[in-house]
Amino acid sequence: MSLPLAPAAPPPLPAEPGPAPVWPASAAFPPSGDVGVGGVSLAELADRFGTPCYVLDEAEVRARARAWRAALPGARVAYAAKAFLSRSLIRWLDEEELSLDVCSAGELELAAHAGFPGDRVLLHGNAKSPEDLRAALRLGVGRVVIDSIGETARLAALVPAGARQKVLVRVVPGVEAGAHAAVRTGVEGQKFGLPIAGGHAEGAVARVLGQRRLELVGLHCHLGSQIPSAEPYVTAVRRLVALLARLRDLHGVTLPELDLGGGFGIAYRAGDPALDPAAWAGRVQRELALCCAHEDLPVPRLTVEPGRWITGPAGVALYRVLAVKTTGGRTFVAVDGGMSDNPRPALYGVRYTVRLVGRASRAPLRPVSVVGRHCEAGDVLAQDIALPGDVRPGDVLAVPASGAYHLSMASAYNLVGRPPVVAVADGRARLVVRRETAADLRARDVGE
Ligand SMILES: *Cc1c(COP(=O)(O)O)cnc(C)c1O
Repeated sequence: MSLPLAPAAPPPLPAEPGPAPVWPASAAFPPSGDVGVGGVSLAELADRFGTPCYVLDEAEVRARARAWRAALPGARVAYAAKAFLSRSLIRWLDEEELSLDVCSAGELELAAHAGFPGDRVLLHGNAKSPEDLRAALRLGVGRVVIDSIGETARLAALVPAGARQKVLVRVVPGVEAGAHAAVRTGVEGQKFGLPIAGGHAEGAVARVLGQRRLELVGLHCHLGSQIPSAEPYVTAVRRLVALLARLRDLHGVTLPELDLGGGFGIAYRAGDPALDPAAWAGRVQRELALCCAHEDLPVPRLTVEPGRWITGPAGVALYRVLAVKTTGGRTFVAVDGGMSDNPRPALYGVRYTVRLVGRASRAPLRPVSVVGRHCEAGDVLAQDIALPGDVRPGDVLAVPASGAYHLSMASAYNLVGRPPVVAVADGRARLVVRRETAADLRARDVGE
């Protein structure tokens, strides 16, 4: 299973907002045309586990978790579970002393089942169900992030007498950032949070302070996703600290925590800018200290919630080519996965890198579109990319930067079954999530 690969180096951390590598730091490119990740051949993984298949580089996940911890000593670094979650990943994050962001009882139950401590979990959600709130209280989550006024009383009513649940209030700072309208959550006119503008955030804070069973410990905001620079966060810090000062003046409370959410950008293609945690931390902490000094407030403890930044670059998707076709002057390379395992190109028009693995080709590159196997013309994984002209059925293609928002958003479209996840580390591979089979899919269908 092992290739003679160079030893893994720590992941290079690019200066903000410079280009970042799209492959894990352990990636090796021997002359055979294969690619090694975590010391394991991707071509061999495709043979052993079948395709489509997702490969997750454990050392890359851990190095990325550590990069945030090192950038912000004393802060809480909470991985956003919605990017991707599995029991092994939960264990790695626990060992790296991260916290965890969840937004459903399902994510929370998986974390609890894997032994993750409840007090290091934050529960989010603009529409938390009674089951979500009950699970949060039963499993003792550290923080519930209040997203609407009505939720305040609903949550308080579930807290047992004599107990107090720590909460944050999610505010909308009016900062526009993020790679696509569907993921811009820092502005008014979208479904998340309580706008500072118009006094909505202040109103919610007053409600929470009026509930004896809730303990308000801070403010939260999440600006959006795939943000490459610190500047939008700096603007948010100014507005949030001004709000903290108003709350002190109005209610005499000094809130000890400030959660700036996630959204830190990664590279999907060579040359894409990516966010550097150390540069981000320097810029944001400097601004926070200045603003707090100006308002005569103590500096609150920061929380950050990276999702994509931790797991995205640690994942590689493997597909096998099933058909190659030229029509209307375009060449389509069709693979055995598609929008059921990666809906992001269809949802947000995202562009990816694709590489032939397992053999060296001398054929000149030509422009092709890599498409999926699903029954929609929009099932395109990578439009107009360059692949060797002799790519043919049976070849294996690898797509880096596939570790976040693929499998967590995967569907059962066409009843294809969701791919497995294979963790690689130190030259060894192990299955951590098995493939969804036709029998799994059939088992849910209990009609006659
Ligand atoms: C989605 C989300 C995150 C993580 O976003 P990334 O872009 O993956 O870093 C963090 N916090 C909240 C509240 C979110 O909704």
